[in-house]
Formats: sequence, structure tokens, C-alpha cells
Amino acid sequence: MNLSDSVEKLPYVGQIYARRLKRLKISTVRDLLYHFPFRYQDFSKRQKIRELQAGIEVSVRGRIIQTTIIRYRGGKFLTKSAVADDTGAIEAVWFNQPYLTRTLKEGVEVGLAGKVENFGGRVSFVNPEFEVLSNGKTQTHTAGFVPVYPETAGISSKWIRNRIKDLFSRTDTLVIPEFLPEEYQQREYLLPRREALRMFHFPQSLREVEESRRRFSFEELFLFNLRSLRQRQAWEIQRAAIKLSYPNFREKVDRFILNLPFTLTSAQRKAVREILTDLAKEKPMNRLLEGDVGSGKTVVAAVAAYLAFLSGTKTIFMAPTEILADQHFQTLKGLLSPEGVKIALHTGSKKQDGEDKFDLWIGTHALFYRKGNFRDVGLVVIDEQHRFGVEQRAKLLEKSKGGVFPHLLTLTATPIPRTLALTVYGDLDLSILNELPPGRKKVKTFAVPSYKREAGYQWIRNRVKSGEQAFVVCPLIEESNVDTLKQVKAATAEYQYLKEMMPDINIGLLHGRMTSKEKVTTMEAFKKGETGVLVSTPVVEVGIDIPNATIMVVEAAERFGLASLHQLRGRVGRGEKDSYCFLFTEENNPSTFRRLKELEKISSGFELAELDLKLRGPGEMYGVRQHGLTELKVADLTDTQILKISRDDAKNLLTNDPTLSTYPALTEELRQFSTSLVEPN
Ligand code: ADP
Ligand code: MG
Repeated sequence: MNLSDSVEKLPYVGQIYARRLKRLKISTVRDLLYHFPFRYQDFSKRQKIRELQAGIEVSVRGRIIQTTIIRYRGGKFLTKSAVADDTGAIEAVWFNQPYLTRTLKEGVEVGLAGKVENFGGRVSFVNPEFEVLSNGKTQTHTAGFVPVYPETAGISSKWIRNRIKDLFSRTDTLVIPEFLPEEYQQREYLLPRREALRMFHFPQSLREVEESRRRFSFEELFLFNLRSLRQRQAWEIQRAAIKLSYPNFREKVDRFILNLPFTLTSAQRKAVREILTDLAKEKPMNRLLEGDVGSGKTVVAAVAAYLAFLSGTKTIFMAPTEILADQHFQTLKGLLSPEGVKIALHTGSKKQDGEDKFDLWIGTHALFYRKGNFRDVGLVVIDEQHRFGVEQRAKLLEKSKGGVFPHLLTLTATPIPRTLALTVYGDLDLSILNELPPGRKKVKTFAVPSYKREAGYQWIRNRVKSGEQAFVVCPLIEESNVDTLKQVKAATAEYQYLKEMMPDINIGLLHGRMTSKEKVTTMEAFKKGETGVLVSTPVVEVGIDIPNATIMVVEAAERFGLASLHQLRGRVGRGEKDSYCFLFTEENNPSTFRRLKELEKISSGFELAELDLKLRGPGEMYGVRQHGLTELKVADLTDTQILKISRDDAKNLLTNDPTLSTYPALTEELRQFSTSLVEPN
């Protein structure tokens, strides 16, 4: 059996389970082995039954003496088993699992694990984990450190554990080739692959967890870097792009910048310089412009689009949502129409045809489905990149064939620390806007416990009555890039609640299940000040620019990473007035509160992103998931040493052997690794 084989081939899997496993992104044997635990239950304390005391988690092994079932009124069941070893007996009880009597028969040998508690005046196991141990079987679920996995309906951790355990008992047939060059393994003291996999799933100690995780951390980052670098290689051998030569239009471009309604920040000037330098080359640019919300990325892109226009080529400007496309349309019209640039808006609800009439196309995904090519496209700008997958990018490029390869500029407000950005966006060149335009006031931020919530809303009500505007962001119910039904329900409930709290205020509601038209109308009403408070779901509209909005409220703020909260906060504080951000919490525990209080002090998105990574506990994906970096599963992103070494190694390897021809196992692994990656949607 090979790692690339389908899981369907495994015993006890079959079609039905294979389909369920797909939901966990598991389709091959490799995927299953790389479905890592996010925590372990500690059943390492083995005891004899006579020694058991209430209040401790333990593991025992014994034989069932008797099992009885009690039925209560109302149809509830209690299953009771007496279990004995050579020192004594203990009772174990389970609620509402009457079918257990079929398994827990007299004389059966079992492992039990869990907390021992006082139940009905006696020390007992209440709802313990258990497993049948016939024929001297060793304990898998009830002893040692027991892995807990991401689960899905119909697939429990116990089930996954059994399948993985099976895989390891097939030593003779399952081939797990090593692909990391031996010199790295020796230099970094990395465990061999097979051993590391075994240890990560079934560790004897927490030390083994650490040791195996280090191997996977290196492995994952190394592969990720290799992949990025190879994508870069591929980009670099693309056909030539149209040269957009700044020197040819120096005077006009400089005057355009000079005539802007404001002076560019020095970060913006540096970014513009970097971009203009790239555009003048024959090699297509592939650059990421990263900057906090409000740092002024749009105008930087506008300079590039202006140069593209002067050079006689078209620009495509992609936004993640219709509202943002609309906003960009307004902004860019203001900046570029006076220069003679003809601008088209093409979204789900507003369609434009006649590709020869326009120089700049602004739109959403709808642009993909537009008939015909874009000929003579010199530049493609993609806003908020993490919502675009590689596939969409490819489609976009296909659209613009006809002519040559366009230059590509990607904008993102996701603050990723530079060390990490090199790995994750290693195939892109990076420009960073690390300062905000002058005059921006710091948004006054407060973490607010739930008992002050009503008072908070009354305060907001008064501000809104005096002409200010507020955003209210609903609790994050599910991690998803699109609004789920649950999410929409939560938003609607919030909206109803606020209508009662503020009967004299006009309140708007915005969520992803509304039609684009409804969304645009809602937004317009807010922009014009017809609504005072706008309730929205978390995923909607990262980049909205509404200068009159001064208040940002985030409900159940503890569910967000700090960097995400910072992005939400960035929607206010764009005008002259003082701005406020209230982080309401549901949980009132001190550590949650302490984390949120960091936002009261820190106002740099990059610093907060670093902090997110540091505060990330085992199994907690704060910041990472919300960054759209779901692709990294085990890597320890705070280990800067490994980040650097894995990158250097990947670079050196590719320099010496650009096609990896002397590393067949690595090539195969890289292929499987890449297909297993989750594309952001
Ligand atoms: P983001 O980087 O979040 O996309 P925008 O491009 O929407 O930011 O810019 C936010 C606001 O800041 C806009 O209203 C824009 O006109 C303004 N702005 C951009 N650059 C400057 C600057 N150098 N000085 C003053 N205001 C600026
Ligand atoms: Mg923006």
C-alpha cells in the first residue's frame, strides 16, 4: 500500500466513510496520516482499582463482572457495569447509551479511562472512555496520551484512531518513504518520517509529541517554501510582459502624484517606486502590496493603472465583493477620469460590454464570466488576495491571453509578519505600507465585559443621535469565508435586539445572503447617513471607507484573532472626529480579557499579528485561520529559526537542482503536498 492510495481501499472505510472523510479533506492514505491531533487526552496515569480516588483522571484495565441497565421515567437509560481487576472492583456508569449492554458483557476484558468521581456516594467512573481488550490487545483509547482529532459528522476521534492504528500495524505493506535529504535530518536532529508519524499519533510522552512535531514543522515549512519558490521559477519563465515604462511618462506620472488631494506617505512613495521599477521590466511583475486597513493601497494601485493607461494598455481591477468594486469605481473615477481614463464597472448586477471602449475595468468574479478576452491587458490588480484562489488567478490570466502576460499587483490588508510572509508569499515580491497617512487619530479602544453592554449601547445611541455612525459586527459563529445560515440568523437576531435597544435610530442589516442589489442599497443608505447603525456579519466588506463612521462595535470579540479585530477597527477613524472601538465579550474570563486589552494599547497590525502567533495555544488557530493561512497545519510559526532554515534549505536545494531531478521521493511528496493544500475560496 502506498501513501497516494485512496482511503477507500482501507478496511472499514468504504464509500460512505470515504465521503465523510472528504469533508475533512482526507482522500488518500497520506491525508489520513497527516490528519494531525490538535490535542491529547492524558490517560497516562495507570492505576489499580483499589488505589482510585475521586477527582483524578486515570486509566484502568479489568474484567466486567456484571452489567445492568436502569430505565427511568421519560425514557432515559443508565447503564451500569461493575469492573474488577486483581485488587478490587469499581462501578462505571453511562447515561443514555443502552446499546452498550451488547458490548459490555460479563467476562469481557476492558480498558476504562476518565475522571473518577463520587457518584451516588461511591467512587465511580462517570461516562468514561472504554474499549474492549480481547486476546491481550493493548489499550489504544484508554491509556497513555490519546490523540483528539478534528472530527466531522459520522467520524469520531475514536474511529480515526482505529484507522491510523491499523495503518501502523501493517508494517509489512504500508510504504512510508523518507523524502527529506539525510543531511537536513542529521543537522536538525529530525526524526525519521515513519517514526515521527507514529509518535505524533501515539506518543509515549509529551516529549515525543514535541519531538515529532518539530519534524513536521520543518517538513511542512520546507515543502511550503519549495512550492512557493517553484511557483516563482514558473512565473519567471513566463512570456514577456508589456513594458510599462515610467521614464517615458515621467512628467505625467509625477504631475498626477503631485495633484493628488493629499501627499503620499513615505511608505506609499517607496511602494510606488518599487512597482514602477517592476513595471518597466519585460518580466511580468508579481508583487504583493501589504498594508494595514486605511494605509492607502488604492491610490498606489491607481498610479500603476495610470501608467498602464499612458502606455496604451488596459488594467483589470478585481475586488472581492460588489460593494468594494463599487467603492473602487467611485474612488478611481475621481482620481483617473480627469486624466482621460475611461472606466467600466462590471459586477453581478452592473454589466458593461464593449471592451474596446474602456481602459480600466473594475469588477468582481463576474469579470471572469464575461464573454470574450481582455486584449492588451498590461496590469491586473487584485484586492484582498486571500479571497482569491490560485485557480481564479489562472482563469484571470487565461482571459487576458490574446496579448502578452500582464503584470500582477495584489493588495492585502492581512498583516503577516515578514518572516512568515517570505514563506507564505515566497513566490511574490513584497511591498509594505507600514504607516498610516498623517492626521489619523488613534481609535480609542475598550474591551467591555458583558454586564456593561447595555450601558455601552445607550452611549452609542446618544452619539448616533448627534449625527455619528456606528458599525456593529455580529458574533463569529462559524469559521467560514461565506455567510452560513447560522451566521445570518445571528446577524438578524442582533439586528432585532438593537432595534429594541435604539427605537429612535434607523438601523441597517448587511449579510452575505442578501442579493447584491440589496447589499448595495443598504450600503448607500449608510453612506448617505440615512441609517445610523449598520449591523453586519463578520465576513462582509473588509475595506469599506466611510469617513463619517466613528464607532465600531464587535460582539463576542473573544472569538476573533487580534489582527482580525484590528482590521475591523480600521473601518473607523478615517475622518476628523474621535473614533471608538468597543470589544464586547461574552466570556468573562481574565485571560480572554487580557488578550483583548492588548488592542487598547497596540495600534500596529503587524505587532498584533505577531502577538496572535505567540498567543496561539496548541490546537488554537487564532490568527492563522483568520489570516487565510489555513494551509499551514502543524508548523510552529513562532520558531523563527526553523522558518529561516527551512527557507534557506529550499533555496539551496533548488539552486543546485532546479528541477529536483535527483530527488524523486521529494518530487512525489511535493506533488501530494500541493494537492492536499486547501485553496482559499
Ligand atoms: P486601504 O489601504 O485600506 O485600501 P484606502 O486606499 O481605502 O486604504 O485609503 C483609505 C483612505 O485614506 C481613503 O479615503 C484615501 O483617500 C485616504 N488616503 C490614502 N492615502 C492618503 C494619504 N497619503 N494622505 C491622506 N489620506 C490618504
Ligand atoms: Mg482597500
